[in-house]
Amino acid sequence: MRTITEPSRQIPVVDEADVVVCGGGPGGFSAAIAAARQGARTVLIERYGFMGGLATAGLVAPILGHTASESNTPIVEGLLREITERLHALDGTLAWEETLTRWGIEFDAEPMKIVLDEMACEAGVELLLHTYVSDVVMDGDKISAILVENKSGRQAVAGKVFIDATGDADVAYRAGAPTTHGRAFDQRPESMGSFFHLAGYEPVDAERAKELSDWLCSEMDKGRFHFYQPHFTGNNAYHKDHTATNMTRFAGNSDVAADMTRAELSIRRDVWELVRYLRANVPEFARCYVQQTSPQVGPRESRQIVGPYALTGHDVHNGTKFDDAIARGSWWIDIHCPRGETWPVHLCVVECPKGADCPYWAAEHEHMWSRKDLYPPQDDWYDIPYRCLLPIGVSNLLSSGRCISATHEGMAGARVMGTCIAIGQAAGTAAALAAGSNVLPAQVDVQQLRAVLRENGQLV
Ligand SMILES: Cc1cc2nc3c(=O)[nH]c(=O)nc-3n(C[C@H](O)[C@H](O)[C@H](O)COP(=O)(O)OP(=O)(O)OC[C@H]3O[C@@H](n4cnc5c(N)ncnc54)[C@H](O)[C@@H]3O)c2cc1C
Repeated sequence: MRTITEPSRQIPVVDEADVVVCGGGPGGFSAAIAAARQGARTVLIERYGFMGGLATAGLVAPILGHTASESNTPIVEGLLREITERLHALDGTLAWEETLTRWGIEFDAEPMKIVLDEMACEAGVELLLHTYVSDVVMDGDKISAILVENKSGRQAVAGKVFIDATGDADVAYRAGAPTTHGRAFDQRPESMGSFFHLAGYEPVDAERAKELSDWLCSEMDKGRFHFYQPHFTGNNAYHKDHTATNMTRFAGNSDVAADMTRAELSIRRDVWELVRYLRANVPEFARCYVQQTSPQVGPRESRQIVGPYALTGHDVHNGTKFDDAIARGSWWIDIHCPRGETWPVHLCVVECPKGADCPYWAAEHEHMWSRKDLYPPQDDWYDIPYRCLLPIGVSNLLSSGRCISATHEGMAGARVMGTCIAIGQAAGTAAALAAGSNVLPAQVDVQQLRAVLRENGQLV
């Protein structure tokens, strides 16, 4: 490969903080708010002009993982409950108690943006938006500064403790920490997808919705569309004047820009193919329009840090509890086909209808999960151990959200937003405790951390 040598440059240090949070998604905004509330001088760096990560930029909804498996018992409260209550006050979601009776927390992404702005600013978080985390400066096994790029040029943000909430473990990777990628067999991650909102259609009742889904299945059987499920009238949206649909799919790596580019083009094409067809053939949808596609295609999985412990599928299935628990998860082993196969393929399970065509299935089917075994025990949860947040090799870094230490199967459960917010609250609290007493994150007293989390409403 041809290379270019960059002339050495003086890089201005624009901020010095106790805690520097990279990424403002569910794993990042919660970490920053928690760290600042603990008294740490906290900076949050985010590439977009708003926080929320896939909750806003991916239009992903509902927030899952707030109750125990198939039950109404809450397992995540703390910041998640506060965010929900503030959203409810803006008519952006249901009341907290009502959400406990639902499988997830449906919400509107616009009030989510302002709720996060207000919570971060009230806590004293310094926000650096429109800023891309591009590299790190190391001092031995410690990060001394994050290098960022924005319209002002290249800048450095120095700190004591850093949190990698980029989803793709960008910081750990740049710092030279070992990372895993997707499943062990071929490093393929779960497939990506984008939500889209449709409006301008005439409401259909349950019977007609089923008829339309059956029709789309038959069209997909003929190879006409490339979705993994047919429920385009299904609605994850809080406001019911539009649909919020999760049916697109693309196989690729979110840490490779070329794959992300192909994913955006392919998914937009798939959405518009459906819309054109609906307008021409389904009377209720003759005047439907795409209200929005998500600003970015959503990755479910990419790099994970390697910590002293990796959460596994068996932990999810068994509802494993740990002495160093800092969060609880209840979502199941929900692996979207890493090869990007579409209808009738949905999950990567031993019962896959196209299993015989798949090299992974051929080599691994004896070890693969069956559909009936994907769930934690009913009315139960699995713990997320603090050790999953500690990247081996970089001593002043914590990981949060979907890039913690976990196997492919473990991450398929822990990746949902309710769990990521709980992990973030713990990561931020731990970072503040470490910075406040000048110790490394690995030296934080985990029982003290758990006590502080409980004081702040978290269930651990
Ligand atoms: C199609 C799809 C459907 C899903 N469905 C659901 C669902 O129904 N319910 C649910 O709870 N979960 C769902 N999930 C999972 C969930 O959305 C994610 O796992 C969760 O958002 C992860 O949170 P995070 O903070 O770790 O990462 P993200 O939400 O990805 O946030 C990462 C943040 O970091 C920023 N960032 C990344 N790199 C950089 C950089 N280099 N510099 C600066 N900023 C950076 C990003 O802009 C983003 O704001 C779904 C995911 C997908 C893709």
